[in-house]
Amino acid sequence: MKWLIPFVLLFAAPLAAAEPEYDLLIRGGRIVDGTGNPWFHGDVAIRGDAIVAVGRVTGTAKKTIDAKGKVVAPGFIDMHSHSDLLLLEDGNAPSKVRQGVTTEVLGEGNSIAPYPGRMSGGRFEKLSDYFLVTRKNGIAVNVATYVGLDNVWQSAMGQSHARPTSAQFETMKATLDAAMREGAFGLSSMLAMPPGSLATTDDLVELGKVVAKHGGIYSTHNRHEGTDVVAAVTEAIAIGERAGIPVDIIHLKIADQKLWGKMDRLIALIDAARARGVNVQANVYPYTRGNNNLASIVPPWAHEGGTAKMLERLKDQMLRPRLKKEIREGIPGWYNHFTAVGGDWSRMLVSGKGSYEGLTMDRVIAAKTKDVSPTPDELDVFFDLLIAEGGSVPTVYEHHTEADMNLAMKQPWCSIGSDGSAYAIDGPLRRGNPHPRNFGTFPRVLGVYVREKKVLALEDAVRKMTSLNAAKLGLADRGLLKAGLKADVTVFDAERVIDKSTYTDPFHYGEGIDAVIVNGEPVLLNGQPTGARPGRGLKPGNKP
Ligand SMILES: [Zn+2]
Repeated sequence: MKWLIPFVLLFAAPLAAAEPEYDLLIRGGRIVDGTGNPWFHGDVAIRGDAIVAVGRVTGTAKKTIDAKGKVVAPGFIDMHSHSDLLLLEDGNAPSKVRQGVTTEVLGEGNSIAPYPGRMSGGRFEKLSDYFLVTRKNGIAVNVATYVGLDNVWQSAMGQSHARPTSAQFETMKATLDAAMREGAFGLSSMLAMPPGSLATTDDLVELGKVVAKHGGIYSTHNRHEGTDVVAAVTEAIAIGERAGIPVDIIHLKIADQKLWGKMDRLIALIDAARARGVNVQANVYPYTRGNNNLASIVPPWAHEGGTAKMLERLKDQMLRPRLKKEIREGIPGWYNHFTAVGGDWSRMLVSGKGSYEGLTMDRVIAAKTKDVSPTPDELDVFFDLLIAEGGSVPTVYEHHTEADMNLAMKQPWCSIGSDGSAYAIDGPLRRGNPHPRNFGTFPRVLGVYVREKKVLALEDAVRKMTSLNAAKLGLADRGLLKAGLKADVTVFDAERVIDKSTYTDPFHYGEGIDAVIVNGEPVLLNGQPTGARPGRGLKPGNKP
């Protein structure tokens, strides 16, 4: 019998020794690869942090995810995120991972760095400091960031609203240049309020030329989203054209009832610019309401000196006639939320904690004026409410229309960005009254705008959440399911995926997102977080 041993070893050895070829195999799903091409059945094989095969894959893996009946897509890239600070508190990014997000793009008016001379309160001297800390703490998602115009502007001007001297402008350019070298993907701006609104178009063109040298892009919150939105989009295009850089307009919308239904005019502007070679694009979030505060209805001059000063002015009966006139008629250049919704109190939903939470302002006013005679002026009721609430009442404004948002969302150059942060439904990150976009943006696009309303085809919606955002940023190794690219993958149930978060009850994760893989490591499995933190700080040109 001993003579049998060598034969057993001969045959058994290879069987015993066969290492699984892959670390992770996602089997039998409908692959929507991010290109926009029709789905196809197939497998995705992963080794380490990279996709090594897509299609019919034979062989075994250390771990296999059964994706039968599910859609397998590239990980979602959130083109407009405010998770910078919350990721420092909880690197698990709960409300983003649960939406299928694998990469967050940070930065608007301000960014997490540079704050020369400051290393506290969530502010960093250099971008690399932020990347260092997030790597040390660990984050579940990848982060990419712009450098904020506010940071650049204040690096030379501090809190001054004066025009910069040429020396001060050189300082701004040097701050921007250094941040681009540090790994920023471009310059982002919020032009609707200071310090961003202090920058002229010419200033932005000059700063844009610094970004162009590094191959970066310009991402902007328009100077005006209401009655002057056409001029604001024209300005964004001009900056791209004159500085020679791509432009991405953040949450493109028409937020004034006077122009509702005119989205086709903005689209025509953008298409005309693209036709003449200007790479201008945009992103949207799938909601028609924006988060703000009742105090934003009070004219800007009345805010000077802060909330206490504002309350004093509201209490001053002598000032009320002027305040009322300006609120009802507006002030040129001021985005007035009251006129933007046509003075319709029912389009203002009190979302903040307190006795009026969940009520629209028309009902609040009705309750406050019941049995009061003569019936008081609604604006007096409004002033008294603001005074009683200490000058702040978080409010959601229904200031743009479904039709305009849908039309923008359909455009081939329009991608998805949540304008949200990484909250949680429990623990320290369950706080405030966040807009539902923080929890539901991506499941909502797939559930409402693909499955229910058929505004987008599945493949196109996935493209707008993945490869289109990667292409805008110049991220060459993410955004597609393709061999050789980084293994960021999201698996979801196209029949079940839906958002569950609402304006009055936001703390709900969406449903139907089954698995999320970041750099080859599962951060969500069977809809449950794994606690893994494989996310990285991304830099242009895949610089390590
Ligand atoms: Zn934003």
